[in-house]
Amino acid sequence: MSTQYDVVIIGGGPVGTALALALRDSKLKVCVLEARPANIASKDVRALALSYGSRLLLARLGVWDALREISAIRTIHISQKQSFGRAVLHAEELNVPELGYVLPYTALQDTLTDTLKNCDVVSIYGASVTQLINSDGQAVIGYQQDGTEHTLHARLAVVADGGKLLAQQFPPEVHDYGQSALITHITCSLPKADTAFERFTPQGPLALLPFKHGYELVWTAPHQRAQEIMAWDDATFLHELQQHFGDRVGEFLSVSKRTIFPLGLRRAPQQSQMPHTVLLGNAAQTMHPVAGQGFNMGLRDAWELALQILDTKPEELGSEAMLAAYRSVRRTDREMGIRFTDGLVRLFSNDLPMVSAGRAAALTALDCLPFVKKFVAKRMMFGTNG
Ligand SMILES: Cc1cc2nc3c(=O)[nH]c(=O)nc-3n(C[C@H](O)[C@H](O)[C@H](O)COP(=O)(O)OP(=O)(O)OC[C@H]3O[C@@H](n4cnc5c(N)ncnc54)[C@H](O)[C@@H]3O)c2cc1C
Repeated sequence: MSTQYDVVIIGGGPVGTALALALRDSKLKVCVLEARPANIASKDVRALALSYGSRLLLARLGVWDALREISAIRTIHISQKQSFGRAVLHAEELNVPELGYVLPYTALQDTLTDTLKNCDVVSIYGASVTQLINSDGQAVIGYQQDGTEHTLHARLAVVADGGKLLAQQFPPEVHDYGQSALITHITCSLPKADTAFERFTPQGPLALLPFKHGYELVWTAPHQRAQEIMAWDDATFLHELQQHFGDRVGEFLSVSKRTIFPLGLRRAPQQSQMPHTVLLGNAAQTMHPVAGQGFNMGLRDAWELALQILDTKPEELGSEAMLAAYRSVRRTDREMGIRFTDGLVRLFSNDLPMVSAGRAAALTALDCLPFVKKFVAKRMMFGTNG
């Protein structure tokens, strides 16, 4: 097997695979290294809310029509607990057919991976990258597969490993919100099929994303509290959820298996300054899920990087000029997305009376002022590219 590539993508998660798909049929030699073994599906249980903008990008990648198990969001209802102020966004007033979509992470991942199988991109599974260095004007990538060490060379290495294993090499700035997200599927007596709910509480936001005949629940709470919620029996869980959320979807009837994710903001400083290397998706920025921005932003990262790569002569791939151009194109969207998400968490995760009144006023403005509503909704659907 060749060890020389134009582009090596480290991590075949949803963002890395999307980039690989955007580069197929380009005559570039592209390789994806994924730690997960072949034919072993990801066990990740999270659901993702995709924006309408992501739908358009996934359609361009030839993936959208193959996706199954999707529920549409046409209305988003935003409120805060124990206070006034609420905002409702409708797809029709924003001139889009849907505001977004909900689907399991695994459904997205499997469809992206299946689509990649029929392309000229080389995918190596069970390949855990352990080293990334620069030598002789190219990236040198070391990985282990079945206990054996291998080395690849690339003009451009794209780190899309979710920010996990290579974090020591690219230490991110970290902010711990002191919160965990508990996720599960719930059913209720009055589900509103295409309506998502975002409810801010002093302990952290709560989201109900419509999926199948119920909702994917993201219940954010301080770490210790989240562990307690995890341990409740189902009856206690449903009762406490009812108290916390109210009765907008009737009575909560059942809850599935629960899983906890610790949350924080992690951002690679100024992207990687290492030559011939780009950080992408969660490796570049891991955000709180409150605004459902993580994958949506990672997909925009992947799309813009693909355009940049296709616009660059092969011998200049990974050059400082190319990397600077990519950083420049992504700077505003990335910064605004991080600040928006971080600001939401900080603004809404407290019960100070003055702040609560300000939040109520902000939600009312969002609800009543069409230009504010359009501005916020466009940012959430398309980033700053909208
Ligand atoms: C509870 C929760 C809810 C969320 N909800 C939303 C939402 O509604 N909308 C949204 O847009 N985002 C959401 N997100 C964020 C979203 O899940 C991430 O932004 C997205 O998964 C990032 O994709 P990625 O490909 O960058 O990283 P990952 O999904 O982490 O994929 C990384 C891949 O790299 C592989 N890998 C890791 N290390 C190595 C290595 N050393 N060598 C080779 N391969 C390696 C892994 O096996 C994996 O396949 C949520 C996150 C959480 C925690």
